[in-house]
Amino acid sequence: MRIIVSLSFLTLAACAGNPNDECGNKFALPKFSTETGVRFEEVQLRTLGSPYRLKGAAAEIFYEGALSDAGYGGSVAEPRLIRGAGDVCVPADTGSMLSIAAYEIFERIFDFDRGIGVEGHLKWPRKVGVELHLRNPDGQTHNNAHYFGVADSIGILPYSLDGVHLAFNPGILAHEHFHAHFQSQVLNPLNAVSEIISSGGGIKPTVDDLDNADLQSPSGLNRFVLRAWNEGLADFYACVFTGEPDFFTASNLDRVSERECNGPLTLFAPGAVLKPQIAATGPGQNVNIRKEMVGIAYFQGTLAARLLYRIAGPDKAAQRQLLQHVMRQLHRVPLMVRPKLDRTIMDFEDIVPVLLDGAKLDTMDCVFLSLTLSKQTLSRRFSQCRL
Ligand SMILES: [Zn+2]
Repeated sequence: MRIIVSLSFLTLAACAGNPNDECGNKFALPKFSTETGVRFEEVQLRTLGSPYRLKGAAAEIFYEGALSDAGYGGSVAEPRLIRGAGDVCVPADTGSMLSIAAYEIFERIFDFDRGIGVEGHLKWPRKVGVELHLRNPDGQTHNNAHYFGVADSIGILPYSLDGVHLAFNPGILAHEHFHAHFQSQVLNPLNAVSEIISSGGGIKPTVDDLDNADLQSPSGLNRFVLRAWNEGLADFYACVFTGEPDFFTASNLDRVSERECNGPLTLFAPGAVLKPQIAATGPGQNVNIRKEMVGIAYFQGTLAARLLYRIAGPDKAAQRQLLQHVMRQLHRVPLMVRPKLDRTIMDFEDIVPVLLDGAKLDTMDCVFLSLTLSKQTLSRRFSQCRL
């Protein structure tokens, strides 16, 4: 066994005549699934030019990088590798392992998006930071992952819980990845034509900024409805991508135990449920109210994920087919939202008829719809479900 140090000029010299380098982009990596847990597997990465530099067609990985609105600063991750038996690259430290594992998952996401024909919605390679050190006003600097809309980048924060690191959890990365789709298909078009006027400071607010959302106006409250849809559809995407309805629990994150895609269905709440929350005044109370409203949004999003997951059924091909349909309908969501955004608080169920327009629905699907939608929406928008 020979230890290869991560001096990039050495490795560049070594692979000058051979783009696949000495260990052929084969890695021994911990792979996680709910069924098998974490297991070391030999993985062949197809889209990397060199195992020593984690930039390829699927992703560009930054390790402990700094993120600004312009994207990640610093250089691409250069993992330290040991050459194992059978020309397999073995990551020599935790950071290298996390970075390669994240790349491997993004290679699968790249294939998945191409399989359902939606890769053209995004710019590739995707930008992903591993062990991103973040200063957050709410103190959430660990045990989370974020999608940053302006930088169009994902950040995986350091993990200190007793579970599967987020960089190893394909469902978590798929969830964050979906947010980029929602950004490109729904939020960016809405932000481009948003008439929301800034209350001060001169910067035009975005339709998804909850921290500065005005809790009195429809446009402010609709940001929580948009958040619900963004989170719920991200969960649906991740459940279909992994084939696992409860990928969250392995990472032991807060409050995700109720997010399973196969959980029970109930009626969507009307958007007006957000309204009574704004009775209190004062900055301190506003923080709590916002937290409560975000909680409502997440739960309503979960309902959307569960409804779509039920309609898709257990068959993997049927799940992919429905997801494909939903992803291709996303660009129609802003058309539905635009006339309502500044005028009326949208209902959480409003997105369902748009996403399912043109989808094949059977009798059981109608039952699922009747458990979640108001009678009015069911009868007006799903004529095939009339008894
Ligand atoms: Zn999310």
